Amino acid sequence: MRIQALLVVTALSAGSTAHALNQSKHFDVTVQSCGAAGLPYAFCQRVGTEVYNVDANEFDDLSAHSQIPVGSTACDAANSSLWRVFWLGGQLREAAITIGYSASRSGNDTVAQHLGRALHTVQDNCAHSGMPNPQHAWHSLSDVCQGTTESPDLNPAAFACARSETDSVFSAFIDVLHDNGGDFAELANVTTDNDKHWPAYSSVCEFLGSASDWKGEDRRWDNAIVRPALTAQLVQGLSGADASQYTRVCGDDSDGVLLSYSEPDRDTDGGPQSCLKIHAFCLGKADSAVSEAPPYETDPVAPEDTVAPVVVTGGCQVGGSSPSSATALLLVAAAIALFLRTKAS
Ligand SMILES: [Zn+2]
Repeated sequence: MRIQALLVVTALSAGSTAHALNQSKHFDVTVQSCGAAGLPYAFCQRVGTEVYNVDANEFDDLSAHSQIPVGSTACDAANSSLWRVFWLGGQLREAAITIGYSASRSGNDTVAQHLGRALHTVQDNCAHSGMPNPQHAWHSLSDVCQGTTESPDLNPAAFACARSETDSVFSAFIDVLHDNGGDFAELANVTTDNDKHWPAYSSVCEFLGSASDWKGEDRRWDNAIVRPALTAQLVQGLSGADASQYTRVCGDDSDGVLLSYSEPDRDTDGGPQSCLKIHAFCLGKADSAVSEAPPYETDPVAPEDTVAPVVVTGGCQVGGSSPSSATALLLVAAAIALFLRTKAS
């Protein structure tokens, strides 16, 4: 019975989903860095909200979260994240030039959105280093159900890394704004609703279900290589480089040199941990439009609204799965419930 349940979970979790550095941590790091750079409070709140909402709006695009999709090589995945921030850097440059020429609220909002989407990827890389979802989900389930702190999103070193890289990006952004006649004070004119969103239930439960796919192999990439490359590509795009100047971090489609620091393989023969908290979150929520903090969220402050996330699309996106159906979600929940019953027996 237990094997059957796990197989159902495995079959239903084949899609790509993601989660990230704690959403509140994304917000805090961004707002603090932005304020330290001397930018207006309202603008910093706006950028922080944009960074926060990438986990709701772009949950399924693993390049946004610096992760390796199942079936992809580390090299291809790293290049996808590099391309994303390079492309967003170019978009940010255009938006900064536009507001330098003629400041407007909508122009400032656009700047904040491009900045937020790019910063999220850079910050997530500090935590994830490419970690695929099955491995990440395994650690998150262990944290929720066993009280461990294995999730890469809880690593203090990741916070310091995220702050440092975010400082570098704001510095480069300010240079471009300055060079193009932007008035820093004008940036305070932004939309101020700052609604924050959790990811959809279906996405979170698919992500957690993917833990049963993990074979115990650590598949993070080497951030001594990828971390500087990611920020450099964002700054390149922001500085006006055209597509021909985009630089891949590795040239072939293998794992290359990227997987150079791996922990010993974990014994996953017993299957992933699950528990009542996971069961309660995933079961019976398919028809609910009300958002709730994911069970692994360590700072579950209620968002300011409860509407479903909006899927953001952009020219930089390289793939991602479609949202799950309510039926699939219920089947995942049922499988988890069955798994729990059989595990207890
Ligand atoms: Zn993320």
